[in-house]
Amino acid sequence: MVTNLDPYIIIILFFMGSIFGSFLNVVIYRVPKNMSIVYPSSHCFSCKKKIPMKYNVPILGYFLLSGKCVFCLNRFPSRYAFVELITAIFTVIVYLIFNLNSLFFVYLILTYLLIAVTFVDIDHFIIPNGFILFGLSVLIISLMLDVLLLGWEYSVSGSFVFAGFLFCIGLIGQFILKKESIGFGDVKLGLILGGFLGVEYSILALYLSFALSAFIIIVFYRGKMNSGDTKIPFGPFLAAGTLISLFTIGPDGGNYILNWYYRTMF
Ligand SMILES: [Zn+2]
Repeated sequence: MVTNLDPYIIIILFFMGSIFGSFLNVVIYRVPKNMSIVYPSSHCFSCKKKIPMKYNVPILGYFLLSGKCVFCLNRFPSRYAFVELITAIFTVIVYLIFNLNSLFFVYLILTYLLIAVTFVDIDHFIIPNGFILFGLSVLIISLMLDVLLLGWEYSVSGSFVFAGFLFCIGLIGQFILKKESIGFGDVKLGLILGGFLGVEYSILALYLSFALSAFIIIVFYRGKMNSGDTKIPFGPFLAAGTLISLFTIGPDGGNYILNWYYRTMF
């Protein structure tokens, strides 16, 4: 936890986060379509004209253009501004919890990856292999540089617990529902998330993911689940469960939710 807050750092990180957010918008739109993420630069999907430099500002750009293309007045989805905003907010949150150190960069990259996973899974019901490979590389590099709070053995055990559990639930779901409930993409993502989290945090993240998904299904999809074609992406829940587990790490290295659990139960 950061004790002496520097407002300048927060403003700079918010701004940088929003720029990464607009890059994530590009990644979310182009990676599932196998398009290049560097070329071409941002343009209108309708008239293909390049968006003028002066409007190419994260978050604000959407409002400067009042959500429309300057040339053909085609409406831009407000989600672009939303992704930029939450990326900026998450950048500040990761700083407030972990301060500016090597852990900050690792968890920030993981957070950005999970934002991309969330929206691609919502749009296309897939978790691209490129995302998995990217996450795996970040995991292996951080283990080699020893910046995570856990060593190789704990990381590998976490991977097996996280992915193994999802794989078993997927098999059971397949058997009972006679359709895919948890996809193989989720299992592969679990392998990476478990590696970052270790065993104890993996169990917490899985618990939170399933609790959240149960809550959302009961509140928003009640009665619609048996119609057969209702599909809910599970990636966003895994992302949320993982981020909540990481963001509740206290200054002493313990986790607020786990501490509370142990205090109440034992
Ligand atoms: Zn246009």
